Amino acid sequence: MLSFWEENTFNHVDIAIVGAGITGLSTAISIKERAPHLKVLILERGIMPTGASTRNAGFACFGSLSEILDDIENFGKEKAHQLVQWRWQGLQLLKKRLGTKKTDYRNWGGFELIRESETHFLDRLPEINDMMEDIFETKIFSEKKGLIKKFGFRNIETVVQNTLEGQVDTGKMMYEMMLLAQKLGVMIWTNCLISKWRNDGDEIRVGLQDDYRGGFSLHAKKLVLCTNAFTENLLPKADLLPGRGIVMITKPIEGLKIKGSFHLDRGYFYFRNFGKRLIVGGGRNLDKEGETTTDFGLNQKIMDDLQYKLKNIILPGRKVEIEQNWSGIMAFGHDKMPLIKTIADHVYVAVRMGGMGVAIGSLVGKRVGEMVLDEAPEMTEKT
Ligand SMILES: Cc1cc2nc3c(=O)[nH]c(=O)nc-3n(C[C@H](O)[C@H](O)[C@H](O)COP(=O)(O)OP(=O)(O)OC[C@H]3O[C@@H](n4cnc5c(N)ncnc54)[C@H](O)[C@@H]3O)c2cc1C
Repeated sequence: MLSFWEENTFNHVDIAIVGAGITGLSTAISIKERAPHLKVLILERGIMPTGASTRNAGFACFGSLSEILDDIENFGKEKAHQLVQWRWQGLQLLKKRLGTKKTDYRNWGGFELIRESETHFLDRLPEINDMMEDIFETKIFSEKKGLIKKFGFRNIETVVQNTLEGQVDTGKMMYEMMLLAQKLGVMIWTNCLISKWRNDGDEIRVGLQDDYRGGFSLHAKKLVLCTNAFTENLLPKADLLPGRGIVMITKPIEGLKIKGSFHLDRGYFYFRNFGKRLIVGGGRNLDKEGETTTDFGLNQKIMDDLQYKLKNIILPGRKVEIEQNWSGIMAFGHDKMPLIKTIADHVYVAVRMGGMGVAIGSLVGKRVGEMVLDEAPEMTEKT
């Protein structure tokens, strides 16, 4: 049971946001930046964010050459261009808000490793450079075969460089984002698994449960679901499937020459340095069915492949020890665009960030904030 004080003050908010990942935090920050007087509450099921945002590999990226070509093939040129633009704009907003120092944002560039069977991608490099020039005001991709020797790769035909890509310390980025939200006056309640909400016309009621008070329902004027891969219970018909991503980090490697963010195989496989260590991840395409899960487990087949690539392509002939493996859960749909919608009066959803949320999450949060505050139109490829 709630006390009179709890009911009067804590249990009534202007905006309730479910999910304390990048999207939920960015939405809350965007709202408070524009409307500091509003009472904004984030409800998070875990002790800390428990989805993708604290469990990714920290690439500040916006698409490798082969990933963009894949997107054009699957979704058309307009959407492929829009996604790159949103990712780029999202990264600028992220940097502006959090700065580069505290998040360890490093602009060391991005590199795509092209194998012999993939050299046909290079035929379309000039076309993609032209297509993206309005975003970057430069020809973004260039072939740099000499980098194979510099980095010591094997079984690679050439390398495509992108000088604008960066990387962050994911932990620090999320920590700083939470601090910023709290500094702006956002309340964050953790250990709150939300399983139901209902629209009562002039307010939204959100079901909460606690060991000391039992069940009660929060009153919110507006509700935003930023629950990404875990949205099914709250919105059963959403076009969304979970996709697990596996990451491993090595122990420090003496004399490591690799510095920057690296991609292979249309963005499905990636690695980067973290100080003297390497972070290696991806491989979801090797077992798409098995990886369509919300379970934070590991997949031996994929981990074996990551280790194989480490030994045969990235650090040939070097003995490398893995310090830790983990996984995070992303959300995908039939379309690669994020799903940002008004789903009922005063209820919004911003989910399906795919493998792009570090980049796109801040912009999505800003856009949802506009929808919440101004009833602005949804974020589609036309807006
Ligand atoms: C391995 C991996 C690598 C990645 N690499 C990159 C990359 O290089 N670049 C990039 O841009 N992106 C990358 N991503 C994607 C990026 O991390 C995600 O797109 C982004 O973090 C999604 O943020 P989000 O806030 O939408 O979702 P999430 O971070 O999943 O947050 C959703 C939150 O909602 C909470 N929640 C869910 N349901 C409920 C409920 N019912 N009640 C209360 N709380 C709930 C969850 O606990 C979670 O904290 C990667 C992801 C993974 C897993």
